[in-house]
Amino acid sequence: MSEKSKFPQVVIIGGGFAGLEVAKQLADKPVEVLMLDKHNYHTFQPLLYQVATGSLECESIAFSLRKNFAGQKNFRFRIAEVSGVDTERNIVKSDIGDIAYDYLVIATGSTTNFLAIKKLSVTLCR
Ligand SMILES: Cc1cc2nc3c(=O)[nH]c(=O)nc-3n(C[C@H](O)[C@H](O)[C@H](O)COP(=O)(O)OP(=O)(O)OC[C@H]3O[C@@H](n4cnc5c(N)ncnc54)[C@H](O)[C@@H]3O)c2cc1C
Repeated sequence: MSEKSKFPQVVIIGGGFAGLEVAKQLADKPVEVLMLDKHNYHTFQPLLYQVATGSLECESIAFSLRKNFAGQKNFRFRIAEVSGVDTERNIVKSDIGDIAYDYLVIATGSTTNFLAIKKLSVTLCR
């Protein structure tokens, strides 16, 4: 995918805390912001414990990324899982195709370390 715009396209991979903050800071800047995330929602991780212990519903700690930026005119969101970046051609590789960028923000978080403890990973919400 390559869309022509008079403004440079900033692609943000990841709608976590980092991605949200970057997109917010670019709200009134002369750029097009395209956020990609494999989920269409942000997860407020500090409250995962409360969901795990049953004191909060899943819905209380996850919110729609599109709705969150509904008022931001230069913002678009696509659900996409990114598999790589071609830095020579300024292309993000994803399961919805190639996406061109002028500036790239990689905000994909970290990888969980389960410390070799088996079955520590549980699915809380479906
Ligand atoms: C249980 C728990 C409790 C915590 N409590 C606190 C606390 O009290 N205070 C505090 O300051 N911090 C806390 N943290 C840490 C904090 O949540 C993280 O530091 C923060 O979420 C990191 O933000 P991030 O934007 O870097 O990554 P994340 O929030 O992990 O966001 C990364 C995003 O990238 C997306 N993504 C990843 N890979 C791809 C891909 N290949 N393609 C497309 N999208 C992708 C993910 O879907 C996700 O939306 C806690 C974390 C956990 C797990």
